Amino acid sequence: MFDAMAQQQIFSLQAAGEQNYSFEGTGIGRHSVIRNTDEVTVQKKEETLPAYHQSLERLLESIELGLWCYELPVNRLAWNNACRRHFGLSPDTEITIDLFYELLHPDDRAITRQAMERSIAENSIYEMDYRAIGMDNQIRWIHATGHCFYDDLNRPKHFDCITIDITERKRVEQMLREQTELLKELEMRKDEFISMASHELKTPITSIKGYTQMLQNRYKKAGDGQALYYLSIINAQLNKLIDLVNDMLDISRMQIGKLNFRDALFDLNAVVREGVENLQATTHTHQLSIESTVGAQVFGDKDRIGQVLINLLTNAIKYSPRANKVLVHISTDQEYATVRVQDFGIGIDEAHQQKIFERFYQVHDTVEKGASGLGIGLYISNQIIKRHEGWMKVESKKGEGSIFSFTLPLLQREGPGRPQ
Ligand code: ADP
Repeated sequence: MFDAMAQQQIFSLQAAGEQNYSFEGTGIGRHSVIRNTDEVTVQKKEETLPAYHQSLERLLESIELGLWCYELPVNRLAWNNACRRHFGLSPDTEITIDLFYELLHPDDRAITRQAMERSIAENSIYEMDYRAIGMDNQIRWIHATGHCFYDDLNRPKHFDCITIDITERKRVEQMLREQTELLKELEMRKDEFISMASHELKTPITSIKGYTQMLQNRYKKAGDGQALYYLSIINAQLNKLIDLVNDMLDISRMQIGKLNFRDALFDLNAVVREGVENLQATTHTHQLSIESTVGAQVFGDKDRIGQVLINLLTNAIKYSPRANKVLVHISTDQEYATVRVQDFGIGIDEAHQQKIFERFYQVHDTVEKGASGLGIGLYISNQIIKRHEGWMKVESKKGEGSIFSFTLPLLQREGPGRPQ
């Protein structure tokens, strides 16, 4: 059996002469002239080509590659057996172009015809995925790619394609699409749940906080030191709970792009000083000290930047249980201000260093060591800093400590998004 693609290559490019074999494989001519560089050699075709075409045909069959060959001037279509199988046809079914269109899924018929006509008219590559409804009533996805060949007068001669059955690939793609949709849906429901749960938690916590303060005032007046001590513990735990709930609220707002920012000009030094002082007031295990300061005017939400600093300081304390100090440095260059928070704690292995900025990522050994947290503080901080056109970094060595930093554009810096 002989295929037109092979014919095309051999006769059009290398041979001068008549087409000698039909698409169906019957010999209809005897000789062809084959050019070999400048020399023209005449060979007995039946001596060499049939064997070559047979092995080519076998190869194409073995890889299930369909050949689709259309002789335009005589309106004759020929397919190899693999192509016939793609359309659920037996080897002896007579193929016509009308039958081909009939075998296409109704939704794919017009676009396939258009694609083919365009390819012929524009001498461009034809490439289509269409559904074939086979004679065996099976629907198969077929990928077809081909090209038109023209005669010396530029009249279309052959339109030849290869076809591949891609039903399995399409099925897997569809399955992946459905899984992705399902994951998105679940993710959305989870975000809704976090948002609802944190809102629901906020009301009772606020109420407990209010009554705790009332009791603190009462016991202060009564001079009951022990009750005040217990209340201070309740208060500290409540503050932790409030931070967690606020983080959960922030993350769900972030997911829907509704985290609010109140932007204004502010002094970064003042924000850092305030954050360090506030946290020092509740920390007895570590000395927090600002090592270097420099004037830095920044435009943005100072409460959110303060929130980032508190998160870094809290982590620095939490993850350095054997150390007793945390250092803060502020520096600037011409365009940016950088705040660095340095601890001398457990440090982070290099493999985890970039991942800790991802949502819910926690380093296993810190979780195993019982450090509390949800793995969202750094994610929120990073998003806040990015929103201010800045970036966060971590430098760390396991067992030696970490330096977390955030960098923000200075107000005087010119650039997109900066206030004029
Ligand atoms: P978490 O609430 O778990 O602290 P974060 O997002 O703030 O969440 O931090 C993510 C993870 O990064 C932590 O679980 C911890 O493993 C690691 N990490 C953060 N800061 C430090 C630090 N200063 N030293 C060592 N590990 C840290």
